Amino acid sequence: MGGHTIECPCGTVLRGDDADAVAVEAQRHAKAVHDMDLSDEQARAMARPA
Ligand SMILES: [Zn+2]
Repeated sequence: MGGHTIECPCGTVLRGDDADAVAVEAQRHAKAVHDMDLSDEQARAMARPA
């Protein structure tokens, strides 16, 4: 259980304790930085075990 990461196409790497947590971080990042709404499914599909 080493957490999960999502690498945004812009190069930013989001990290979380699990796929759900990192998905929330990715949604926050996408909205704040890219003004993009990422669905739960899209965000979770990008999560990779760290
Ligand atoms: Zn980004």
